[in-house]
Amino acid sequence: MKALVFASSDDLLLEVLNFSVQAGLSTDILITGDNCDERSKEIAKRGAKNIFICDTVDPTDEDSLTSLISSLSGGYGMVLTSSDRIGKAVSARVSQRMRAGSVMDVISFMRRGDELILVRHIMGGKAVVEERVVLPVVVGIKPRKFEPAKENPVEPNIRRIEFSPVSRLRIVERRRKKASGVRLDRADIVIGCGRGFKSKDDLKLAYELAELLGAAVGSSRPLAADLKWMPEERWIGMSGVTIKPKLYIAVGISGQQQHIAGITDSKIIVAVNSDPNAPIFRSSDYGVVQDLYKFLPALKSVIGRRKR
Ligand SMILES: Cc1cc2nc3c(=O)[nH]c(=O)nc-3n(C[C@H](O)[C@H](O)[C@H](O)COP(=O)(O)OP(=O)(O)OC[C@H]3O[C@@H](n4cnc5c(N)ncnc54)[C@H](O)[C@@H]3O)c2cc1C
Repeated sequence: MKALVFASSDDLLLEVLNFSVQAGLSTDILITGDNCDERSKEIAKRGAKNIFICDTVDPTDEDSLTSLISSLSGGYGMVLTSSDRIGKAVSARVSQRMRAGSVMDVISFMRRGDELILVRHIMGGKAVVEERVVLPVVVGIKPRKFEPAKENPVEPNIRRIEFSPVSRLRIVERRRKKASGVRLDRADIVIGCGRGFKSKDDLKLAYELAELLGAAVGSSRPLAADLKWMPEERWIGMSGVTIKPKLYIAVGISGQQQHIAGITDSKIIVAVNSDPNAPIFRSSDYGVVQDLYKFLPALKSVIGRRKR
């Protein structure tokens, strides 16, 4: 079966490519945006059959991407992307144009007799469901579920596509966001801060511990979206970043389903909460029932002593 892969960033593209190659699909890739030629050299080593390059379409321009992908999608059994924000938005629109189904947050694919089954997370990652699909279908792979595709000897054909953007939006200027420390979705250790912190200043307790542990600091949604104590790209969960660290320390976070959806792939989860009945303890490997204002300084001092 043939698959066409696109994604909003090259990191995600390589994860989706890995899924596609592992599923035994004959995979073509669409790369859009700046420096396509340079980027395609790296991507070309990872097992795609054909690479389509279109440098006139920006990977965040959902209107143009929808039209471009729809125009290329004939003959493909699957159009594959990542279930990130742009992947979800474009998938919904492409599937509508293809008159195809769309399945997001997919974690595996199997054939059972003549049936094609996609397995995906539901209920914020608490359960999995098997979806029987008919082709063609548009599929979003759960971010960070797959490693980037490995090097592969297949030599792809590279084809340039001429396409005039159709967006109703005009990009006037592009500015890179200020990077705020280690990337959450790549960090080995993440400390998540919740509304148990009483002020923005108090977050320094988490940052100091993070410095000792070499950890990235993230938050629950209210701290980033409502209180603006954290940059937006730091909130973890269903509508934020999905993380996959070796260790996640949730501090003053209640553990609502929308937060849990972003942390289920963490290897070890430690929760610090003063309420013994906080739901986060049901999703944790280790629970510390304690006031964070007592626990964090104590932990910092023990780790500090051991490091000396
Ligand atoms: C459509 C939708 C999408 C959403 N997406 C997300 C998402 O992606 N990510 C996300 O995080 N949320 C998301 N939410 C919000 C989510 O439902 C919760 O409201 C949010 O996760 C709660 O944040 P919190 O745990 O920090 O705050 P609270 O629920 O207020 O919990 C604070 C916790 O701190 C504890 N605490 C208080 N004081 C202390 C102390 N001194 N020491 C130790 N513990 C203390 C309390 O016992 C409590 O358990 C979404 C909601 C909706 C409707």
